[in-house]
Amino acid sequence: MVAPYASDPAQTRGRRFAQAAAPTRTEFQRDRDRIVHCTAFRRLVYKTQVFLNHEGDLFRTRLTHSLEVAQLGRSMARSLRLNEDLVEAIALAHDLGHTPFGHAGQDALHACMADFGGFEHNLQSLRVVDHLEERYPDFDGLNLCFETREGILKHCSRHNAAALERTELPFADGQGGVGARFLLRQQPSLEAQLCNLADEIAYNAHDIDDGVRSGLISFAQAQEVPLFADFAAQALAAHPPLSEPKNARRWLYEAIRLMLSSQVYDLIDATQIALAEHRPDSAQAVRLCPELLRFSPEMRAGTQALKAFLLASLYRHPQVVETMERAKQIVRDLFAAYLNDPQAMQAAGSPRQVHENVPDLPRRVADYIAGMTDRFAAREHERLTGLRLLA
Ligand code: MG
Repeated sequence: MVAPYASDPAQTRGRRFAQAAAPTRTEFQRDRDRIVHCTAFRRLVYKTQVFLNHEGDLFRTRLTHSLEVAQLGRSMARSLRLNEDLVEAIALAHDLGHTPFGHAGQDALHACMADFGGFEHNLQSLRVVDHLEERYPDFDGLNLCFETREGILKHCSRHNAAALERTELPFADGQGGVGARFLLRQQPSLEAQLCNLADEIAYNAHDIDDGVRSGLISFAQAQEVPLFADFAAQALAAHPPLSEPKNARRWLYEAIRLMLSSQVYDLIDATQIALAEHRPDSAQAVRLCPELLRFSPEMRAGTQALKAFLLASLYRHPQVVETMERAKQIVRDLFAAYLNDPQAMQAAGSPRQVHENVPDLPRRVADYIAGMTDRFAAREHERLTGLRLLA
């Protein structure tokens, strides 16, 4: 039932280390299963999306976010006749490399690593599945297929792509590795493109929900965004009792639901138009086309305005910024403490893995900190410095 432009697990470019096929599962199903069972996946439950883990039980974490991306991705993949298993594998793995404390944690770690090659969460997600998971007797990492690894590496600078290519193991077909497309300016699979947009649809919707629940933005304020105001008005027109105060949450949910569905339908329609125009006849042909997974220009403008609103009103809300400054200090202090005394990483007395096989100390420290959950990082900081920066 899949389209000729879908990725075919039987035609995978293969794994870094050759393994016999599984008796009952395709290669992409097998990748999805490996991701669900890995340690980094379980840690996502205690990692921040926008709100710190301890700020409330109902806010999204990186785990619930990843599940929402997988659900949206699978459902759109079915409509577009793409490979659902590959979409699900990429979606579940896409945030594995995130540091504790969300983007604040990544920014602080990147600054700490400025003289040592930097830190970037996309590259780190790939590093987790290629090197840091220690589960198999014969190799480091999860040994995923090229197509899954390619989807995980959503963006990459040309500098980092060139460095990555120097470490890629040779492929049987003689073509480049996961960094090559950034150097050749080609597209990844449609499944990978789909995950990027499913990610965006998911966080735009759930950040409004979490933002209003937190009280940092109001439902009325969210209606300053034209895209969202339209759906709030549609919801009310169809269900007038939603204007009663006791129905405030139902009105919010209904507006978000309408917005989410309309983005999904818009994406499917706009992508079908692009597919009809460019007519890729294989998964390989997709790579030479422009980006085919897309919103209509009107929806793209609407989502840009929504993102700008969330940035200004929620992500840069003084209360979020204040908490994130503390989080950055935690990361900086941990980095300095471990660089000064590498034994302190072992002394944490936790089952967390210090990657002894990473020869370069700053990188080993960065890997160790990136693997922490929010609460472990805060506790470990308190142990090392005596300061409690987050309640
Ligand atoms: Mg994401």
